[in-house]
Amino acid sequence: MEIRLYPDPVLRERSAPVEGFDQELADLAAGMTQAMLENRGLGLAAPQVAVLKRLIVVSPDGEAGHETVLVNPEVVCTEGWEEADEGCLSFPGIYVKIGRFARMAVRYQDVAGRPHEMEAEGLLARAILHEIEHLDGRLLVDRMSPVQQMAQRRRLRELTTRYERRRKQALRIQETASSGGDASRRNP
Ligand code: ZN
Repeated sequence: MEIRLYPDPVLRERSAPVEGFDQELADLAAGMTQAMLENRGLGLAAPQVAVLKRLIVVSPDGEAGHETVLVNPEVVCTEGWEEADEGCLSFPGIYVKIGRFARMAVRYQDVAGRPHEMEAEGLLARAILHEIEHLDGRLLVDRMSPVQQMAQRRRLRELTTRYERRRKQALRIQETASSGGDASRRNP
């Protein structure tokens, strides 16, 4: 499962509520959990793997088996405020101090559609709030102050260059494939 990196436009899309709790959803959750653990993340949202569904997976510590999959998550209440370093698997190499609610409660469904409520604080609360923002196309860069954006501008530019290069490569592969097809049609 490939994690999409900034500034891939799919990260700016709004995700739709999950209505079907089927095997496809369970497979998506399992694949995302694996991708999160492999990349040593504490959270991953479905749009980060180019699936526009309201599903996130979070972990308090990145240990296998400690993760929770939250489908259609809704913040119920929040309390306190805390600043801490925060990163994002779609922004590799960037860590910035971000202020967020220190404690929160979230209502969600599991992959079978059963309703749950969970309270969280510290890193877990931070991860849940961060991932829910992904579902509305809001990204770490939007949370950064102008000074932080300035400090990270080189890394952000590197990510943009990398994205553009990969997109051009993908277009070239498509062109080669289609012209190859034309050539074979011209041949007897
Ligand atoms: Zn993120």
